[in-house]
Parts: sequence; structure tokens; C-alpha cells
Amino acid sequence: MGEFELINQYFKRDTSGSSVVLGVGDDCSLLQLPAEKQLAISVDTLLADVHFPADGDPEAIAERALCVSLSDLAAMGAKPLWFTLALTLPEANEAWVSAFSRGLFRAANTYGCELVGGDTTRGPLSISVQVMGSVEPHLAMKRSGAAVGDLLFVSGTLGDGAAALAVLNGSIKVDDESSQYLSGRYYHPEPRLALAQTLAPLASAAIDVSDGLVADLGHICKASSVAATVFVERLPLSSAILKCAATPQQYQWALSGGDDYQLCFTVAPANIAQVEQLIAAGLDATNIGEITEGKGVHCRLIDHPFEIEGTGYNHFD
Ligand code: ADP
Ligand code: MG
Repeated sequence: MGEFELINQYFKRDTSGSSVVLGVGDDCSLLQLPAEKQLAISVDTLLADVHFPADGDPEAIAERALCVSLSDLAAMGAKPLWFTLALTLPEANEAWVSAFSRGLFRAANTYGCELVGGDTTRGPLSISVQVMGSVEPHLAMKRSGAAVGDLLFVSGTLGDGAAALAVLNGSIKVDDESSQYLSGRYYHPEPRLALAQTLAPLASAAIDVSDGLVADLGHICKASSVAATVFVERLPLSSAILKCAATPQQYQWALSGGDDYQLCFTVAPANIAQVEQLIAAGLDATNIGEITEGKGVHCRLIDHPFEIEGTGYNHFD
């Protein structure tokens, strides 16, 4: 099957009646941004055997590729609208592309965004997804907005991504239920878009946790010229993690393991009561620390400094 047949069959679908004025098939797509909104845009590349196993399930790989990019929109408080896909394939394997396209559009439907273009080339398997969304200018959650006296929160549970990898590569053994939960968290990370919409008017800064809490929170600290203290005993851990490892390992996963795609955010004193109320009413977030004067991320376990082993993934280390 040729390049254009493949695009037409698996990556082109009807976009009439949406914000897509002109979709896949021309030199560019034409997109209509809602009035008074800013465009939020982000791209992520996933490489076979670096970010996912080359022989992994193509449906899950596609879903994951879109979801990790959408997580960046969530971290900015943006609503997803469109995405493009640059796909490099070793061969035009129709079964693979068909399953990939199924997973991709399933995630696109779930989160309400439309594929509006891309590029298809031959070479070692690689997937780049560029997402675009809209955000009200004063509601964007930048990394630079944290201030001394803000409280620090994280959504969901931390460490599941790292624990999932340990299960997938066979270095730990867990019961079937935990194994299923963890591999679900790894292959189907949930971009916290709805939560981000609730938080955008209340948070002073936010980032998504993709490289590990300490590494990503470090970016907020640097951009905001502040320090952060994390109270390790408060870290939210899933029951799967609590069952499958000893405490020091649980904390290491939660602090330095990647692939969680939760939101880490700060809240200024004026908004703390409102956020605490939302949490009491069921908002999926936990207060894990505070922003202080100084530099960097400091972890404490019941009043003692807590040393962590790694500080997140860096491609050039
Ligand atoms: P050009 O030569 O102008 O770059 P291409 O031949 O690369 O155009 O692509 C033709 C059309 O198909 C363009 O509209 C492009 O956006 C779209 N396209 C190519 N690959 C993909 C893909 N993997 N997913 C979605 N759209 C794609
Ligand atoms: Mg092209």
C-alpha cells in the first residue's frame, strides 16, 4: 500500500462542521481558533525501544502517544482542539497501521480533538504528535507563577508509571490485579484535562509529571525562582504500589519515576481554602508540600531530609 492510500484510508476522516476549515489532504490545514483565545501548542516524539517496546500493541502505542501530548495541554490549562501526526515506519504494514489508527482515533474521540495533518516517512519507527488547544490568556498555568507561601499539590497517585515499567521488564512480580492496573496506567495514561479546567482559575503554576516529580517540580522552582519542600509521607500512592514494594522503593518511584502524567501545581494562599474545599468534595488531588525561599526541591520524611536516587530522565545524561 502506497503512502497516499495509507493516509487516505487510515488518517483521513470527515471533519466537516468543526473548527477544522480544511483538514488532511492539502498543503496545510486551515483551523479556526475560538475568538479571544490563545493557541497552546506542544509536540512530543516517541521512539521505538526508547519510549515504548517496538513490538508493543500498536493500538496502545497510538493512544499513549496522543495522551502524553495531551497531558502537556492539561498542564497549561488548555482545551484540546487539533493534532498532527508525523509517523516514521520501517514498512507499510497494513495490520499495524490499521490498529494504530484505531487506537489513535479512540483517544482523539475520548478527548475531543481532531487529526488535521501530518507526515508519513520510512525509517526506524518513530511517532511525533503535535497537539494544539485553546486557552483563555489569563488562565494559562505557566511554570513561572509559583510564589513563596503557595502550597504544592499533585493529582492522582504517583509512581505507577515507574512500577509498571518494573513489572513490564520483569524486575518485580505482582498479583494479576495489580499487574493489570499498572500496565493500564502505563499504556493508557489519562491526561488530566478536566481537572486542569477546574484548577486553571485557582493554580499559580503547573506542570505535568512526565520525568518524575522531583525533576518536574524542579522546573517550576527554577522558572519561579523559588524552592519547594515535599513531605514524602504525604505522597499519594496507589494500592497496587503499596502491595508490591517496600516503603523506600515506593517513595523512590513516586519521587523520581517518570510516566505518571499527573499534574503538579501550586496554589496561592488566597485560593487555598477553595482548593481544599474542592478536594473535600472529591477533586482528585493531594497537598504534598509548600513553596519556600531558596532553590531546588527538598524532600523530607517525618522531619528528616530524605535523599532520592535519580532525579528524572534526561536523554543526554
Ligand atoms: P506535503 O508533500 O505537502 O508535505 P504530504 O504528501 O506529506 O504533503 O501529505 C499529504 C497530506 O496528508 C497533507 O495534508 C498531510 O498533512 C497529510 N498527512 C500525511 N501524513 C499524515 C499522517 N500520518 N496523518 C495525518 N495526515 C497526514
Ligand atoms: Mg510531507
